[in-house]
Amino acid sequence: MYERSSGHIEAITGGMFSGKSEELVRRLRRAVIARQRVQIFKPESDTRAGGDRVVTRDNRELDAIPVSTSAEMRKGLHWGVQVVGIDEAQFFDDGLGPLVNDLADAGIRVIVAGLDQDFRRQPFGPMPHILATAEYVDKMHAICVRCGAPAHYSQRIAGGGEQVQVGDTEAYEARCRRCYQEFQAQPMLFTQQEMDGS
Ligand SMILES: [Zn+2]
Repeated sequence: MYERSSGHIEAITGGMFSGKSEELVRRLRRAVIARQRVQIFKPESDTRAGGDRVVTRDNRELDAIPVSTSAEMRKGLHWGVQVVGIDEAQFFDDGLGPLVNDLADAGIRVIVAGLDQDFRRQPFGPMPHILATAEYVDKMHAICVRCGAPAHYSQRIAGGGEQVQVGDTEAYEARCRRCYQEFQAQPMLFTQQEMDGS
């Protein structure tokens, strides 16, 4: 049983395809099994199906609640919630960091999953704030599609230059530092399929 004073922030971060959402769901599912009151939020723009669902003890599915801002998330919180999960946190506004901190102060266990960097390797949205203030940070790694090494980056191999290109996972590949740099420097060395549209 969580005591009131045991609120804290857990951050799960890393590149695309690194299993952040699965890890979030795994932790939330255990909380549900322990009969804790759980809520999950995700950005409204996230249209992926089924990725962040938790099946509860009585076989109901606990769906992530889509919200477009951190203020909307604050309003959507149920009284007495004990565990709050947030997926794709990088897409939220800068109000997310302070909100997450307020929740932890109020005794809530907050588990935040999100990309640490965008495809240009720039810190992504409110994630730097959350990573700095979280008690626990787990950096997940995907597997580099080119060489099999642990992948720290999500390289955009097709599409435009905007930071947000939601739901289009085919435009990205997990890459290690070396392969990321090689692609940036000499994309001609890579296959035609990878080059299409870039
Ligand atoms: Zn590599």
